[in-house]
Amino acid sequence: MTALALSLVIPVFNEEENVAELVERCIAVCKATGKSYEIVLVDDGSSDRSRELLCALATDPDNAVVAVLLNRNYGQHPAVLAGLAQSRGDVVVTLDADLQNPPEEIPRLLAKIDEGCDVVGSVREIRRDSWLRRLPSRLINAVVRKTTGVEMNDYGCMLRAYRRNVVDAVLGCHERSTFIPILANSFASRTGEVNVAHSERSAGDSKYNLWKLINLQFDLLTSMTAFPLRLLSIGGVLMAALGFLAGISIGIMRIVYGPEWAAEGVLTVFAVLFIFSGVQLFGLGLLGEYLSRVYDDVRARPRYFVQSVISSDKPASKHDQSSVVPLSNKVKEQA
Ligand code: UDP
Ligand code: MG
Repeated sequence: MTALALSLVIPVFNEEENVAELVERCIAVCKATGKSYEIVLVDDGSSDRSRELLCALATDPDNAVVAVLLNRNYGQHPAVLAGLAQSRGDVVVTLDADLQNPPEEIPRLLAKIDEGCDVVGSVREIRRDSWLRRLPSRLINAVVRKTTGVEMNDYGCMLRAYRRNVVDAVLGCHERSTFIPILANSFASRTGEVNVAHSERSAGDSKYNLWKLINLQFDLLTSMTAFPLRLLSIGGVLMAALGFLAGISIGIMRIVYGPEWAAEGVLTVFAVLFIFSGVQLFGLGLLGEYLSRVYDDVRARPRYFVQSVISSDKPASKHDQSSVVPLSNKVKEQA
């Protein structure tokens, strides 16, 4: 497989009205960059004419379009992964097929990559989605920022550029539920962001219904942290402690004010209930801690990611200066 400078990876799910304009605008942008390029379109089990349109585009020798057809609908992120696996570019840009992310912003992402970033995200300046779609994204963005510590403002925006080594590392992770921007960020040594325009959906409706959206947010959460499980333990301990304190104070009050005060033992029952429920919650959280470790092992993500190895040893090759060996493939061996 010959390497290219740039790959665009675009998931397509029932986007028949958008495909033609999308590809036309992408080709114009790619040509203007003057780089060698390909456009990888992944059909995520569309039931409209998208599939035929992609096939027609890919078989036209004038287009550098590659069509990847999935047998059924897997979801946006698996579709993007399928496209990444097929891509050959040194830099890979992902974007949506609905033209909400204007392809004309791609050169600005590439410029940021040239500045030395491994991953470049984009922030939708004025987001043109309904508040119902925006609210969960806002919440999740804030949580992600807190838990990962990576300052990125808009994880949901899929207009993103990745260097090849990061793409290879992401492909080296074999877990089932993935949220690509977060996974990719964990392999980047420098991330950048650019502000981009965001338009209304060009045609058709959002392909995310409430259920899919909830699923996505859980994928995101679990791919990133096991903290909710720990919250169970913390909640349990707090509850048990509260019950214990209540029990002691009820005992004291009963001695001081007599049996009527304790409502004939009802308060005591509550205190005992708190203690037992707290202990149970703590036990659940403890089980969760084991489970999260098992999950980590099952996912078998690489334990570390070697950016490069620098050595002054002169290898038996033509290079006479210090060699910087990119180890993008190493990650697979460690997985
Ligand atoms: N998409 C997909 N599979 C799905 C859902 C969405 O490939 O199951 C694609 C869709 O065609 C689009 C992108 O993912 O290119 C983003 O979807 P959409 O615009 O509907 O999401 P939103 O803008 O509401 O986040
Ligand atoms: Mg959209």
